[in-house]
Order: sequence, then structure tokens, then C-alpha cells
Amino acid sequence: MSVANGREFLAIPGPTNIPDAVLAAMHRPATDIYSGDMLGITRTLLEDLPKIFGTTGRTYIYAANGHGGWEAAVSNVLSRGETILVLESGLFAVGWGEMARIMGVKIEVLKGDWRRAVDAAAVTQRLRADVGHEIKAILAVQIDTASGVVNDIPAIRGAIDAAGHPALFMVDCVASLGCMPFDMDGWGVDIAMAGSQKGLMTPPGLAFVAGNERAHAAHQKADLRTRYWDWTFRQGEVHYQKYGGTPPQHLLFALRKALDMLLAEGLDHAARRHALLAEATRQAVARWAEGRVLTFNVRNAAERANSVTTILTQDRDPRPLADYCRHQCGVVLGVGIGELSGKAFRIAHMGHVNAPMVFGVLGAVEMGLAALGIPHGKGGVQAAVEYLGREVRP
Ligand SMILES: *Cc1c(COP(=O)(O)O)cnc(C)c1O
Repeated sequence: MSVANGREFLAIPGPTNIPDAVLAAMHRPATDIYSGDMLGITRTLLEDLPKIFGTTGRTYIYAANGHGGWEAAVSNVLSRGETILVLESGLFAVGWGEMARIMGVKIEVLKGDWRRAVDAAAVTQRLRADVGHEIKAILAVQIDTASGVVNDIPAIRGAIDAAGHPALFMVDCVASLGCMPFDMDGWGVDIAMAGSQKGLMTPPGLAFVAGNERAHAAHQKADLRTRYWDWTFRQGEVHYQKYGGTPPQHLLFALRKALDMLLAEGLDHAARRHALLAEATRQAVARWAEGRVLTFNVRNAAERANSVTTILTQDRDPRPLADYCRHQCGVVLGVGIGELSGKAFRIAHMGHVNAPMVFGVLGAVEMGLAALGIPHGKGGVQAAVEYLGREVRP
């Protein structure tokens, strides 16, 4: 028996739920790419994206997914044979570093642990040892979507400054932009990148890279530059150049609508909404964990992300629960990836989410735990409801 009629609900950490208004914004004919509407959309997007990154630097828009954004960032500021330091806290910074390695950069991974955030003191220690300043850039993620860790970006900046090290600080905020504060200039981030399909509520296919003055100075001598990703080429006056070719028009129409929605809500409000819905999820998980099977992947509560929660299933395969939620309830959960493959599931609470969506997902998981006889503390959904009932006032 299944009660999964109607719209399937996507609770994976990207792509996320796309608002109907964003979908509708794409339902229009292609337009001229040299005049009219399209030029205005590009202009306002290039004004609004830096605001969302918190920078007065330039932002570039690529027809690409997050991996394309990674390549764009690396190729514009680094040269073959240079060394970079990658701060591990899950899958994604390491994946970004691996891409740089294949492009010809030497990488060193500062070993981390999938169950905790980057250790700022270890960053200072490693950089102090680099007396010759061989390390040219430091790569980190704000939220690691696999482990569910949130890194303290200002603390990492502080760690770099404590060592007096000049390396560029490069941050992936694919799974955090629009979901929690990010202040590129205020935090001293030199290059930040993101994708369209997570907190920004837009279909996959756009990547954004922002660079400050230090990043643009490094760009002048970077030898990994290629025509498609190249910032200098994209600064050209011709509209077509800003996209390295034909603009991905429909994705831009969608993004325009999504940013209108996000800015109308307000970035602070969106961050607070994510914090509340994430904590409601954690309240439910904490209750389920009383059954001694499920447990938070991230040990320290302060290091748990507000866009995704990763839940370990210990020695149980998480697939039957994910399958149950999907086929019996119509909710698609994320499963563990990388090191956590077969050992975890993930609940996204990222982007276009509200209380009934989160309650629905939590309810489906709790229903699955009961139906499959997986030991768990009862009342997870109730705990989430009570938490929001205390926190959200008229
Ligand atoms: C999703 C994600 C990426 C990769 O984005 P793709 O669009 O899948 O290439 C990179 N970094 C983080 C933190 C992500 O969550």
C-alpha cells in the first residue's frame, strides 16, 4: 500500500524544491540576446549577486553546475605547479581540491574528520610552518552537504591572519548561500562560489563566482585561465561575452524571479527561517536518537548545518527507510554519499522550505521508522512542532 499520491516532495540537498513562481518565470519564448529584456536582467543579476555574497567585488555567472563554478574559480586565480591547502570537513572541499589537482595544481589536504568542522588552530599551525609562503590558496566549504558540517568561515579567516599568511581564501558556499549569513568582504574571503540549485531555489545549471581585488590581482598572472571561464574576457562590453556565449536565458529568468523572492523575504529573514526549520529537524532527530540506532553525524551541536542534517544509521542500511519514504509516502530523502554511503540518510531543509514541508518530511521518516520496526524514540514530529510553537510567535 502507498499513500504517495500527488506531487513527490524532494528533500534531497540539491537540487531543491523550485517555487512555482520560479518555474513559471521560465515559461516564455527565447528572446533576442543583444537587446531588450535580457540586457536588463543581466544588469540586475550582476548587481544583486554581489549583494548576496556580501561583496563589492565582481560576480561572474556561468552556464554550469557547481563543479563548473569550482573550475572557474581555480582557473582564474591559480597557475600550474602552485600549491594549495584544502581544508577537509567532508566530501566537497576535497572534491574541489581534486579538480584543482587534475588541472595541474599541487594539493595538500589538511586532514579533517567527517564528523566535525575544520579545526582553526590546525590551520594556523600548518600555515605558520609554511615560512616560504608556498601555499597560494586555501580551499574550504561553508557547509559540507555530505557530512552536514557548517564551518566557521570568519574563524578560518582569523586562523589565516594569525599565521600572517598571504594565501587567497576561497570558499564554496553552494549549500549555504541564501540559507545562512555570508559576508565575503566582512569576513575577508577572496573568492566565493555557489550554484543555482540549492539555497537559491533555481534549477541546476548556473554557477556564480565572486572575486575581490586580491583575486583579480592573482588573476592577472594566473596561467590556468581558459577562454570560457576567463574573467577578463567576461568583463567585455558585449553582452554575449558576459556568458562566454549565448546566455542561458531561461535559467536567468528563473534566477531573476528566485532572487526577487529571496530579497523580498530578506537575507536575514531567510537565514532565521532556515535556522528555525533546521533546529526543528534536529529536535526530531534527537528524539529518534533515543532509540540508539539513529544518531547525528556531526558530534558537536554547534557544527550542525542549517541547510541539511546528516543522520547515521549505524550498522543498518538506510535504503529501506529511504525507499519507504519515497514509495509509500512520496518523500525523497538524501542518502549518505562518499564515506557515508550505505551508512546515513540526509534531510535537506534548504531553499524554498516552510513548516508544513519540514513537518511532512519528518512525519514520513517517523512513519517509516515505525513501519520498518527501526528502534527510535517516539514523538520526533511532536518535538519539532513544540519547538517551533515556542519560537515562532505572531
Ligand atoms: C552540490 C554541491 C557542490 C556541487 O555542485 P554540482 O552542481 O552538483 O556540481 C559543490 N559544493 C557543495 C558544498 C555542494 O553542496
